Amino acid sequence: MEQVEKERIQSAFKEKMDYDELMNCTRCGFCLPSCPTYIETGNNEVHSPRGRIALMKGVVDGVIEPSEEVKNSIDVCLGCRACEPVCPSGVKFGRLLEQARDAIYQENEQTISEKMLRKTFFNHIFPKQKNMINLTSLLGIYQRTGIQTFTRKLGIMKFFPDPMETMEKVLPDIPRKKQMKKRPKHLNSVKEKKKKVAFFSGCLMDTIFMRTNDATTNLLQYAGCEIVIPETQGCCGALHGHSGEAEKARVMAKKNIQAFEGMDVDYIITNAGGCGGFLVDYDYLLKDDPEWKERAEKFVAKIKDITSILIDLDFHKQPLKLPHRIITYQDSCHLRNGQKTFMEPRYLLESIEGVNYVEMKDANRCCGSAGIYNIVQSEMSMQILDHKMTEAIKTEAKTIVTSNPGCLLQMKLGIKREGCSDTMDAVHIVDLLLEAYEYAKNQNKGTAFNL
Ligand code: SF4
Ligand code: SF4
Repeated sequence: MEQVEKERIQSAFKEKMDYDELMNCTRCGFCLPSCPTYIETGNNEVHSPRGRIALMKGVVDGVIEPSEEVKNSIDVCLGCRACEPVCPSGVKFGRLLEQARDAIYQENEQTISEKMLRKTFFNHIFPKQKNMINLTSLLGIYQRTGIQTFTRKLGIMKFFPDPMETMEKVLPDIPRKKQMKKRPKHLNSVKEKKKKVAFFSGCLMDTIFMRTNDATTNLLQYAGCEIVIPETQGCCGALHGHSGEAEKARVMAKKNIQAFEGMDVDYIITNAGGCGGFLVDYDYLLKDDPEWKERAEKFVAKIKDITSILIDLDFHKQPLKLPHRIITYQDSCHLRNGQKTFMEPRYLLESIEGVNYVEMKDANRCCGSAGIYNIVQSEMSMQILDHKMTEAIKTEAKTIVTSNPGCLLQMKLGIKREGCSDTMDAVHIVDLLLEAYEYAKNQNKGTAFNL
């Protein structure tokens, strides 16, 4: 790394890092056993939360040079925040990580292709839903026409990194462009109305995972919710925030706050742990902006995960049934460590008749997906995934349930890598709950149940 680049990073660290938060770390080490990268590197302190905090503080204090080793330590971190709930001092590690990445990656020396890739995705795809739909529909054309079969036959995907090659095989069926463009804006409850909610539909969730979004609104309707879906909302900005693009994340946060502002709703519902975990931090993201601080706080106060409102509205007490199977659950790190929602999905799954719920060992440990981590840090990601799959297979589950699209694809990738596709699958929790609701409804047809 050039001297001038080191000086730039050092001054960016001084400007962007929250020094009080760095000082909160007492170096007790309670967080070490919870850190996947510390474990996978054979207890390497550089890849632990305590080690990373020491490096960040060292750079701010000017006693450590922002070397490649420091940059690598920050890059290898999953951002899973498993170190937060176990920290007795309450260190908000996720925020420190975002600040460090913002300091390193803003205006840094990237290759032209890196710059172009970041610019295309961060400026033109994720923030603009129209472009996201256009790009996704190309994927759909790739799947539906013979191109996918042809590409596979020719082995063209072999030229891509391993995880990308396998990821291509586990993508869900992409909806048609017409369907992605024609999304509902308002839905009435189909039962006695208990709540009025707004739905945060997201960018990827409303395109590639559009059917899971539809399942989410169906469940909300069955649970007694009237739903509004503001058209002007957009991507949550999590990928930007986690990749050192804090300023762009702020722009997207403001757009979303504005889209939901003034709505007479009880909650804003999310169904992707990664998005929800970032949305609940909008108040911190905008804490230094006097015009937006309070508006962000009001927005954050209304965020609720789908599993949490379903429990509040006693959805789990309705008949839910599936043909007998063992299932297990993989936590979404940001749903668990950011939104503190982890018992609700388990209560819901345990309430399905016919299901034998088996808790997976280390279900709260990251699966290695972590946004684009499985592509940019594929070796470590696959190492973590292999550990996860060993534990998943031990449960003898037929279905691995998750609550975030990234985790879902990673689990499907793990199943493929293990060669278990014939006996195992992975699903988003709302898809499974809707299936259980509809199965019970069909079984009870003609009985006294009024579903
Ligand atoms: S548990 Fe918290 S205070 Fe202790 S070393 Fe880890 S981050 Fe620092
Ligand atoms: S965020 Fe996850 S990977 Fe990073 S230091 Fe914390 S526990 Fe380790």
